[in-house]
Amino acid sequence: MTLGRPLLNRRLAAFGTTIFAEMSALAVRTGSINLGQGFPDTDGPEEIREAAVRALRTGHGNQYPPGPGVPELRAAVAAHQERFYGLTWSPDTEVLVTTGATEGIAASLLALLEPGDEVIAFEPYYDSYAACIAMAGAVRVPLTLRAPSFRPDLDELRALVTPRTRLLLLNTPHNPTGTVLTPDELSGIAALAVEHDLLVVTDEVYEHLVFTGAHHPIAALPGMRERTVSVSSAGKTFSYTGWKVGWVTGDAPLVAAVRAAKQYLTFVSGGPFQYAIAEALALPDAFFTAFREGMRRRRDLLAEGLRAAGFRVHEPEGTYFVTTDISPFGEEDAYAFCRALPERCGVAAVPVSVFYDDPEAGRSQVRFTFCKRDDVLEEAVARLGRLAP
Ligand SMILES: *Cc1c(COP(=O)(O)O)cnc(C)c1O
Repeated sequence: MTLGRPLLNRRLAAFGTTIFAEMSALAVRTGSINLGQGFPDTDGPEEIREAAVRALRTGHGNQYPPGPGVPELRAAVAAHQERFYGLTWSPDTEVLVTTGATEGIAASLLALLEPGDEVIAFEPYYDSYAACIAMAGAVRVPLTLRAPSFRPDLDELRALVTPRTRLLLLNTPHNPTGTVLTPDELSGIAALAVEHDLLVVTDEVYEHLVFTGAHHPIAALPGMRERTVSVSSAGKTFSYTGWKVGWVTGDAPLVAAVRAAKQYLTFVSGGPFQYAIAEALALPDAFFTAFREGMRRRRDLLAEGLRAAGFRVHEPEGTYFVTTDISPFGEEDAYAFCRALPERCGVAAVPVSVFYDDPEAGRSQVRFTFCKRDDVLEEAVARLGRLAP
């Protein structure tokens, strides 16, 4: 205690350090292969990196770019949404460039929520959701995705809606479970949103990493355009997670509201990378297909290795994570398991339990990423093979 009370305010005090910082530090300290945090160990397309260099050299974006984002990127986001999903957005009023999807989510929640509003979100959560809901003074209401299927129960969802519910926070493909919402599930969720006049914020950063079925944006469903804010980013799709270029799309009044919050968070987002990502979004379909198929191969490599090592493996339909259960090792506590894993075999992972409000639901789940080079995954699998179940 100093200055009369704890420095970190009550809204944030519960969150502490993110688990990624903790497990990545442990991986560094022990010289372990880090399959905890989801960042690729190979950069994305070289021509996109060169486009960023060109933008820097020619002074494109070296001074404050326009608040909503550079026109080239807003046009490219709109063209991408039309090419892949048939969604049409005005680049001028219905696209907003953000500093990664993280800012898109934060600005959406800060703009759209009043203190006391309830937000229904799938747990396990992506870790920024709970913190942003708290920063907005709103109340999170979990819809628990339970092993082994990790499918949302729509009756359970319906039962969670109260007169205070304002917003559904979706994530498909879902990190960490790999669940991809089906057209039926999306229709059910959309019908509920329309019936109760709810807003939807949907995090679709893994839109190009769907291995089973296809990605369907909920914004395309009847009645959803005027109530849905869609968030995505370049980090995962183009393997440049450090660039932090994201975007929000939606009906003009929604995007105007999100822009009102964004302008006081970052004012504008970094310039030169925006020009490069505008080019990335225009890459031919073959790029997106090759990216997905390469990741599918790595998913299979890691999933098989984990299975052979004794884990119970949940095969993800999308994203770049595999969720496993450690019960076959006679262990139940994912957090303790992950703290010990680097010393035991030189591999780091993250406990999924920390992404649940319900401590029992994820108690024995551990997440591994497969967005790493083949040789790194092969070495990790060999090391994990030394764990005796
Ligand atoms: C990685 C990730 C993000 C963050 O995206 P940035 O563009 O890096 O801010 C958001 N949501 C999910 C589900 C993610 O996995």
